[in-house]
Amino acid sequence: MDALKHLPEATILSLPEQVDPYRHDESHLVGPSPLAVVKPHGPGALRELVRLARAEGFGLVARGAGTGKAGGCVPMERSVIVDMGEYPGAIQVSHANMTLTAPASAMLKDVKAAALDQGLFYPPDPNSWDQCAFGGSLATNAGGPCACKYGMTRHWVLSLDALMDDGNVHTFGISTVKNNAGPNLAQLLVGSEGIFGIILGATVRVIPKPRQILTLLLPVSDWHTLLDLPAVLVSAGYLPSAFEFWDPAVLKVMREHGPEEARRMPGEALALLEFDDPGCHEDEFMEGLLEVLGDEAEHLQTATDARQREGLWAVRRMTSVVLKEQYPKKVSEDIVVPRSQVRAFFEGVAQLPLITYGHLGDGNLHVNFLAAGEMPSEALEHHLTDLFKLCLRLGGTLTGEHGIGLAKRDAFLTLMDPYQVEAVRRLKHALDPSGIFNPGKVI
Ligand SMILES: Cc1cc2nc3c(=O)[nH]c(=O)nc-3n(C[C@H](O)[C@H](O)[C@H](O)COP(=O)(O)OP(=O)(O)OC[C@H]3O[C@@H](n4cnc5c(N)ncnc54)[C@H](O)[C@@H]3O)c2cc1C
Repeated sequence: MDALKHLPEATILSLPEQVDPYRHDESHLVGPSPLAVVKPHGPGALRELVRLARAEGFGLVARGAGTGKAGGCVPMERSVIVDMGEYPGAIQVSHANMTLTAPASAMLKDVKAAALDQGLFYPPDPNSWDQCAFGGSLATNAGGPCACKYGMTRHWVLSLDALMDDGNVHTFGISTVKNNAGPNLAQLLVGSEGIFGIILGATVRVIPKPRQILTLLLPVSDWHTLLDLPAVLVSAGYLPSAFEFWDPAVLKVMREHGPEEARRMPGEALALLEFDDPGCHEDEFMEGLLEVLGDEAEHLQTATDARQREGLWAVRRMTSVVLKEQYPKKVSEDIVVPRSQVRAFFEGVAQLPLITYGHLGDGNLHVNFLAAGEMPSEALEHHLTDLFKLCLRLGGTLTGEHGIGLAKRDAFLTLMDPYQVEAVRRLKHALDPSGIFNPGKVI
């Protein structure tokens, strides 16, 4: 693209074989070829990109590692992909402030490792933590198994640097937990999926690394007995740092097609529970827990060592990959309902042809329509609308983790409270009046 020829401080890709891999993310969506892929190396490139986007009328689609599941970084017509992977910056830890600062280009696994190296813990753990970029995790407000105890990415963000529509990089927020100087614009950018600006980096809170971790496998013969357990456990004072589950159908697929560790997984259905409270290795903790679990604890197993624990988590991380391999045309959604409504959710979807696994501990469930490819599209649409309406009725929403992007845009616009949709539209217009940042996504 001629307009980009003199862009300073950037690598530019424009050959079809170079830009083609950028047409999709990890959702089912594939966009048109982008006009170009730009990898900025400095603020000069960013400033000029904003100027050109406005002058030439193209969109700027920020991209991290492209692991998103909502089509958020998929190009639309006349898009330039802004791949943040080469933007410079280093990961820095401050013990004095209990913070970590990292560029958007860092990989999340390196951010988490840098904290651990210093005896510190940065909790956000999307199951893609070993593949996604820090910037992508901020832009999607990524969550993961430990969100049921530690919250999502936004709970950890103190300040954030972003390229805004004036072509400059602004810092929103400061590196302390206390900051009350007006509405928190850093938090507005977290989870904004690239529609307000492009994130260059952030400072997040870190905490001391948990000293003990207790990993438990809870196989059950009737999976419905698991449905009240998240609420029962927390009401009894046991807050797991992870509470994952596989329903019988998903467990069967994993046993048949998953890795070695999956073949040995017990039960008709299975929960994976983790606690990291101080003292969770003490007898007293376990005795209390067994009492709460009651009859369900009959076949409880404890992960004996770090290797077994890692094996179990690898199975969990691979669940969506194995399902996708076996059912390439499946459609999956990551709805969420409050913990107290998990049973009502399953009663409500009893007639829908779906299977489920995911974060039972916080009500964020990955529901999969395996036969979506063979269903008439109206029938699938109908099922999805029923599903979303049920979640909204139960006090939940359309997505717990993956975001709206392109995949859920129609549902967002039609099913959410019209006042909120209009408020997001006005915010978009206020912050990005020329509509250059990720046009056609979310709103
Ligand atoms: C196997 C697998 C498991 C997953 N598990 C989880 C999970 O447990 N929890 C979860 O939350 N997600 C999960 N995801 C989804 C995805 O990995 C996360 O949303 C991740 O945080 C996206 O990061 P990314 O760098 O790949 O972003 P991308 O896919 O590159 O981009 C995602 C969105 O963020 C925007 N964006 C990216 N970088 C920037 C930036 N610097 N500035 C502004 N906007 C930007 C893009 O425009 C797009 O809208 C999973 C995905 C896979 C493939």
